[in-house]
Amino acid sequence: MIAMDLINLGELTWPEAKERFESVDIALLPVGAIEQHGPHLPLDTDAFDAAYLAKEVATACSQPRPLVLPLISYGVSYHHADFKGTISVSPDTLARLVHDVGMSAAQNGVKKLVIINGHGGNVPALHFAAQTINRDARIFTCVDSGETSDTDVYAMAETPNDVHAGEIETSTVMALRPDAVRMEKRRKFVPKFSSHYLDFTSRRSVSWYARTARISSSGVLGDPTKASREKGERIWAVMVKNLVELVEHIKEMSLDEIYQAKY
Ligand SMILES: [Zn+2]
Repeated sequence: MIAMDLINLGELTWPEAKERFESVDIALLPVGAIEQHGPHLPLDTDAFDAAYLAKEVATACSQPRPLVLPLISYGVSYHHADFKGTISVSPDTLARLVHDVGMSAAQNGVKKLVIINGHGGNVPALHFAAQTINRDARIFTCVDSGETSDTDVYAMAETPNDVHAGEIETSTVMALRPDAVRMEKRRKFVPKFSSHYLDFTSRRSVSWYARTARISSSGVLGDPTKASREKGERIWAVMVKNLVELVEHIKEMSLDEIYQAKY
């Protein structure tokens, strides 16, 4: 009875988990990073935010709510390693870990795994893991690194290439943990690249990789001086709403229905 209201797997006992897995077969897995976020945001920004988003999404869903698996805090952040405090794992370590967690979740009865990713550097490893989980456990596995809401979020921001510790991310931290933002340390750095095909926020851009220190000496890519708490609250609202919609669409469906339903 109480267990039905609990969304964090880690807070359940095993008999409660057994009961929950009998009533719901969708789980959310937040994945973050511990890495520099400029001179004004904490190192755990991506980890904290991914865990928050997963919890908010699960809480806002109808019964039976999805389970939230414990956060994977560490991510692929080697490109931020020139800045102190960044603790990174390699892409293959993250992919193996997520694969193992996904396989174990599948053994518990999870048939749909939604990976909620708080950090762009994790994307290739998480896609690799999602593919191998699908191959080995034949469950539905998807990765959201912001795709469900990027169009809305970029429309709310004024800054181009605002992808790291800038207007968007500083706003979202201000909305959750205003005391964690060193307001007077915020500095604008908006990168310009030699080809618009390299722009981070363009739909036509290629995926490319560089050490952040080669682009920005502060570690910021964007304009944190344009951030506001109110903007952050609007960004969170749309991210939660869109992910809840996705979860609600697939929650009660069988895998056959997910792959074939027209709605
Ligand atoms: Zn971040």
